[in-house]
Amino acid sequence: MKKTVLPPDDLRRLAGLRHALHAAPELSGQERATAETLATFLATTRPDHILRGLGGHGLAVVYAGKVPGPSVMFRAELDGLPIAARGGYAHASRIPGIAHLCGHDGHMAILAGLGLWLARNRPARGRVILLFQPAEETGEGARAVLADPQFAQLCPDWAFALHNMPGLPLGALAVGPGPASCASVGLRLAYQGREAHASLPETGVSPAPALAALMADLAPYSASPAMGPDYRLATLCHMQMGAPAFGIAPGQAEAWITLRTLCDTALAEFEAEVVARAQSRAAALGLDVKITRHDHFNATLNDAQAAAHVAQAGAELGLQKAEFALPMRASEDFGAFGARTRTGLCFLGAGVAQPALHTPDYDFPDALIAPGVALFAAIWRRVLDNAQ
Ligand SMILES: [Zn+2]
Ligand SMILES: [Zn+2]
Repeated sequence: MKKTVLPPDDLRRLAGLRHALHAAPELSGQERATAETLATFLATTRPDHILRGLGGHGLAVVYAGKVPGPSVMFRAELDGLPIAARGGYAHASRIPGIAHLCGHDGHMAILAGLGLWLARNRPARGRVILLFQPAEETGEGARAVLADPQFAQLCPDWAFALHNMPGLPLGALAVGPGPASCASVGLRLAYQGREAHASLPETGVSPAPALAALMADLAPYSASPAMGPDYRLATLCHMQMGAPAFGIAPGQAEAWITLRTLCDTALAEFEAEVVARAQSRAAALGLDVKITRHDHFNATLNDAQAAAHVAQAGAELGLQKAEFALPMRASEDFGAFGARTRTGLCFLGAGVAQPALHTPDYDFPDALIAPGVALFAAIWRRVLDNAQ
């Protein structure tokens, strides 16, 4: 099998589609126009069903065979990021402060390419579902899709996704059984004490000692520990205290932290410990603390057989094996699908010299569209062949 399963004209159309999506990014939960663009693009592939409004602006495009067989879902993400791109190229984001810096525009183009391929290689049996999922960046989209009653019409036996990975050679593949991406959660700690005149700080209640204690408590988890069953990482992302004035002792503060572990139960334990410690520290200092959780991502655990299908599909295509230690430290909400189906998440190199994901210069390489489509097509064939 070749690394390209589409003719050059299709690849040019897909690059054009990616550029259009890249120029008009939408934030998590607001991907209405993005979903519409994809529905219009894929209408020409004559799918058997289209489901709209899945878990928000999600879109599922289904190609069904006449005979029962495996139901295989491939997933891409619809959302951009609230980060300004540096731009300076023709298809740069036209929306101030919003950009496709995670390469989701490329993932969508790959999935649309699979649709073009399926139009010519319609499933004889089983079915293929292209899921364009909303709100991946906030960790809410996959769960919202699963909670949508329409998902009962899909119920895939298998679900696959890829994420592009700058720093790895273009088209190199990383996949394996077990943990593929970390569980994580954001905690926002809002401290309330009492302000005082700066000359009389002892008459107020300052949150400063609580912030200092929080930093000390998290310090053991702030380095880069080796990946292992006890892996715990705490990143202090943001802090704010009082007002920028020399005459006031602060009465209020906020701290934002992100916690990461290898699996969901370890995350729940870590979170409970951090919350209990922060609450007891605050109480001892006479402070009130309100703790809210945000951006919760399940860990992604690859099913062994799903991972084997991906690895074998990559080998068939002659894709280089990437030197990349799994799991990825960052999180992916694709893990939520693991509760309902057998999942396989893999990483495809976006080029060694590419800027990192979520940085202002990142632009998904068009050269990765062809191998991405070929990989998904090969995975589908492998699942089908093995289901006989
Ligand atoms: Zn991202
Ligand atoms: Zn992403």
